[in-house]
Amino acid sequence: MPSAFSFAVLATDGNARLGELHTPHGVVQTPAFMPVGTQGSVKAMRHRDLEEAGAQIILGNTYHLYLRPGDELIARRGGLHRFIGWPHPILTDSGGYQVFSLAERRKIDEQGAEFRSHLDGSLHRLSPESAVDIQARLGSDIAMVLDECLAYPASRDETAHSMERSVRWAERCRARFVDIRDGGGDVGPTNPGQAQFGILQGGVFQDLRDQSADATIAIGFEGYAIGGLSVGEPIDLMYAVVSDTVRRLPTDRPRYLMGAGTPEDLVDCVARGIDMFDCVLPTRNARNGQLFTSEGRINIKNARYAEDDGPVDPACGCYTCRTHSRAYLRHLYLAGEMTAGSLNTLHNLTFYLDTMRRIREAISLRTFDKFRQEFLRSASRLSLNS
Ligand SMILES: [Zn+2]
Repeated sequence: MPSAFSFAVLATDGNARLGELHTPHGVVQTPAFMPVGTQGSVKAMRHRDLEEAGAQIILGNTYHLYLRPGDELIARRGGLHRFIGWPHPILTDSGGYQVFSLAERRKIDEQGAEFRSHLDGSLHRLSPESAVDIQARLGSDIAMVLDECLAYPASRDETAHSMERSVRWAERCRARFVDIRDGGGDVGPTNPGQAQFGILQGGVFQDLRDQSADATIAIGFEGYAIGGLSVGEPIDLMYAVVSDTVRRLPTDRPRYLMGAGTPEDLVDCVARGIDMFDCVLPTRNARNGQLFTSEGRINIKNARYAEDDGPVDPACGCYTCRTHSRAYLRHLYLAGEMTAGSLNTLHNLTFYLDTMRRIREAISLRTFDKFRQEFLRSASRLSLNS
C-alpha cells in the first residue's frame, strides 16, 4: 500500500528549508512547532484555541496515554484523533523519555525497560516492539522509535554503549513497524498511513553522532530526529551538534530536533536546517506567569504590571492580547484563577506559532537571515526586561 505520508522541500534560504509534510490527517507546513499535548490535551487549551493559534500538529505522550486511559481503550474508540476530537496531525513519542526520567522506578536492559507507574506503582515493561504496538493502536500520524535517553553529562563510553543500543532498538522498532504496516500480527493499528521516525543519539560526541546517523539512515525511516539535546549541555555545543548532524541527513526527509527550545533556539536551528520542533516551554512557562513577547519575556506577576492597561504584546493578535490588559492578567494569576493558565497559554503558543509562520514567510521571500538578525536583536533586548 502506498504511504499516505510524504515530505517535500519547497524552498531554501541558506540552510533553512520551507517544506510540507503530508500526513493521513492533513498537511503540516514546515518549519513547524508542535505544542505538547501530554495526556491527549495541551494543558489549559481547548482544541479550537489551538486551531486559532495556528497549530497544525500536536504531540501526544505515549507513556501517559498507555498508563491512562490505556492504548487499547483508545484503539476501541477509533484511535487517538477520534478519542480526543483533534482531526489534524499528531506525533507521538515512544514513551522512552518519561520512563528513563523515572530514575529509581525503572530498570533497563537490552530487552527494554521495566518500570513502575507513577500513578499506582504497578509494574510495566516497555520494549522497542511494545513502543511500536502502543503507537500503532494510538494511530498517530508520526510514531517515534524507542531510544535510550542519557542524562547530561555522560562519559564517552557510556554514551557510545547507549547509542549502539539505540541503533539496535531502532532496527527492532522498524522491523515491527513494517510487519504491522504489512498486515502482520494482531495489534490492530488505527491509522494505516502512520509514518515512523528514527532518532539519532551520541550525546555531544560528534563521531558518535556520525555513527548513529549513518546506522539509523541505513535502517531507513520516513524522517529523522535529533535526540539527547536540550538536556543541560551548553547552548553552543547544542548548536554545533545540530549543524554537524544535519549535514549527514538526507535532504529529502524531515528533520526533527526533539525537546527544543526557546524562541531563539527555534530561529537558530531553522538556520541550521531543522524542520520540526516540540517543547513544553511556552505552555509550562505560561502557567507560571512567564510570557514571551516581541519585546522580550515578561513575568506577569511582577508588581510593575499592577496598573498596566496595555496588552501583553502590542504586536500580538491573539484573543488574550485583543481582550485583556496586563493588569487584569496579573490579577487572575495572583488570584489563582484557572483562566490565568488558559489565557497565558493561548498567548505563548500564539507567539511561538506566529514566529514559525514568520520564519516560513521569510524563507519563501529569501529574507530569513535578515529576519533572524532582527529577531535575535529584539530577543536580547527583552531578556533585559524580565
Ligand atoms: Zn497575545
